[in-house]
Amino acid sequence: MTVDVERYSRQILFEKIGEEGQEKLARGSALVVGCGALGAAAASLLVRAGVGAVRLVDRDVVEASNLHRQILFDEADAAARLPKAEAAARHLRAMNAACRIEAFTVDVTPRNVERLVAGVGVVVDGLDNFEARYLVNDACVSAGVPWVYGGVLGAVGVTMTILPGDGPCLRCVFPEPPAPGTLPTCDTQGVIGPAPVAIGALEAVEACKVLMGSGEVRRELAYLDVWEGSLRTVRVARSPSCPACGERRFEFLSAKAHSTAAALCGRNSVQITPATEAAIPLERLAQELARAGSVSFNGFVLEFRAEGYELLLFPDGRAIVKGTSEADVARGVYARYVGS
Ligand SMILES: [Zn+2]
Repeated sequence: MTVDVERYSRQILFEKIGEEGQEKLARGSALVVGCGALGAAAASLLVRAGVGAVRLVDRDVVEASNLHRQILFDEADAAARLPKAEAAARHLRAMNAACRIEAFTVDVTPRNVERLVAGVGVVVDGLDNFEARYLVNDACVSAGVPWVYGGVLGAVGVTMTILPGDGPCLRCVFPEPPAPGTLPTCDTQGVIGPAPVAIGALEAVEACKVLMGSGEVRRELAYLDVWEGSLRTVRVARSPSCPACGERRFEFLSAKAHSTAAALCGRNSVQITPATEAAIPLERLAQELARAGSVSFNGFVLEFRAEGYELLLFPDGRAIVKGTSEADVARGVYARYVGS
């Protein structure tokens, strides 16, 4: 494979990469799971660095309140309520036409996570919830795919690189996800843009090292506080009794085929995920729903308002019901207008 030596000249001059490293990046592929603040920063750097293929996954749409930290998006994306994966793909393609970019507007579930992870050289965490991270950990450990964990709250971020079979996985370090409602979230405690951008940058460095087969992948848990300007690292060890990498019991992966209604913390919203993925004919549904309330459809996402609720419906049948934090109420709204 020939790489554009002129384009990447300054990066090739960096001795840890060189022309050989650049070629490995061009042959490499990454899954960026979650395209919010972390994912946007990491994906931009990976695409600009010349990684050959990047797969983007996100379940949500761009909103004005994202723009202070999600550096891939602009006001037009928010006004059009574009799905983040689609908007990200559009901006990333403009940055580097040589990078093959795929976008999936889906929630990461036990049903699809193995498919999403399959075939990539590294997975980069841009997620906003622990349930999905444990699912990604299971899928990556099971398939032997390296992944870079990252999370942010306020001005502090954390990251760790996981090489399955070589050092600890996420469950070795944090055996169980925190119970819902036990940790503050970015929706309740806030977040400043530099924190996810800095952690996204660290994640991108590690992902490039993995793709280049570098022996210098960092193995510690790293905490970065951008307000204080401090970086603290903690040595972590593999746990022989880890359910995932020790006993190879993939408990999160095995929770298959459940319809779920999950309250989205701090947002007065509930996400409904149907038991089976189904392609919803959104265009036709938009016409039908126009009789029952106010509808808009941007080609990707159907937005429907009625009874004081707002329903965002995605092509895979998933919906976010705004205006309630009650799962049953949201299920009712879904059943009334989408059918289930
Ligand atoms: Zn483990």
